[in-house]
Amino acid sequence: SYARSPLEQLEPSRFWHTFSDMNKVVQGPKFVVSEAQGVWLWDDNGDRYLDGTASLWYCNVGHGRAEIADAVHRQLGRLDAYAVYGDFANAPALELSERLASHAPVADPRVILTCGGGEAIDSAAKVARQYWAVRGRPERVHLISRTGGYHGLNGFGTSIIGMDRFRTGYGPLVTDTSVVAHDSIEELEAEILRVGPERVAAFFAEPVIGAGGVYAPGPDYFARVAALCEYYGILFVVDSVICGFARLGNWFGIERWGVRPDMIVFAKGVTSGYLPLGGVIVSGAVAEPFWNEPGHPLHHGTTYAGHPTCCAAALANLDILEREDLFTASREIEVQLDSAVRTLATHPMVREVRSGVGVMAAVELTEEALAAGITTAEIFQESRARGVVLRAVPTALLISPPLVIAWEQIEHLVSTLRASLDAVAQRHVD
Ligand code: PLP
Repeated sequence: SYARSPLEQLEPSRFWHTFSDMNKVVQGPKFVVSEAQGVWLWDDNGDRYLDGTASLWYCNVGHGRAEIADAVHRQLGRLDAYAVYGDFANAPALELSERLASHAPVADPRVILTCGGGEAIDSAAKVARQYWAVRGRPERVHLISRTGGYHGLNGFGTSIIGMDRFRTGYGPLVTDTSVVAHDSIEELEAEILRVGPERVAAFFAEPVIGAGGVYAPGPDYFARVAALCEYYGILFVVDSVICGFARLGNWFGIERWGVRPDMIVFAKGVTSGYLPLGGVIVSGAVAEPFWNEPGHPLHHGTTYAGHPTCCAAALANLDILEREDLFTASREIEVQLDSAVRTLATHPMVREVRSGVGVMAAVELTEEALAAGITTAEIFQESRARGVVLRAVPTALLISPPLVIAWEQIEHLVSTLRASLDAVAQRHVD
């Protein structure tokens, strides 16, 4: 019953694929996803694939949950939308903010809602800079982030991202930013001292670096970061866009290291991607001048922030996470995925497997394989042709399935990746 999309009529397509080289994409067939259920996808030929990445790290509760669809339908029937600005509000936005605040490891939290992660990062950066401005420290603007850190592609996000390919070619970006090694407290402190602590507004970090290749922190990294930020009075902003909503077995990922940041940025898993939503959880201390002192309105927001239907989707998604205890399930899947994917570490094409913190893993290719012209894109294509969708970044394949994946499906995923590595290696020998 899979409706074949009339692609012939759409050729040549006008659809500009983002994150892609259109010069290549337009020459190949498109991969049209038509249906999804649980951990499975179907293309427009009716062929089935295992979703090894929860789409783009977000479909934590799995696809096709009728409960979320029903909540969206009900909300659209009651109040489709009405913009939240000035003193306007809506019940789902208020309820979602309370619920997120009640679970956030942030002192006396306040919640800003956005339409996605990149917007939330920009909101956090603007709140941080304006916080210092209204506190009479307008020179305190510098933003520090980490190599491999991905923070969305809005203005501030593009400027603090730790991957050069996303920054180049746009002319001047936001100034007063810098990037430090992802695992070095010494480098972070040296950078704070180089810039001058009195000029640093905030430090941004993902709990586990995601798109940059799945790099978990050392055991005491975040405790030391939090102590350093507190010592120098720098705001500590955690980007939990990937790591939140049970991907690390808890609400926001960072709880794992027992620290309480000044702000937490979230998106993706908050709705499991059923509708777009993100936001920033801001500590009461940072909110203080805006909330409790006259004359500091925040001239920032977007048309769709706090959209009631998106918030209704989030609430239904959080109901599922809690009722099915996907937090505990995630911890179990983390162990299973780690044990399965580590078996690839001895594969001749694999330099390193990074896994074991959260339901996320990276399989990094050897320099020899890459030098021989083998690409992660080729392995990604091979694996997808064999029915498993993974994600290719320049030197690694990334894995981040929905948190409802079964052990047999993890085994299927890993054995398909192994077969794909073998097939691609064989092709390069032939
Ligand atoms: N922060 C992190 C850690 C992300 O992984 C992403 C998206 O992948 C973003 C921010 C940006 O979110 P969005 O794509 O919703 O703007």
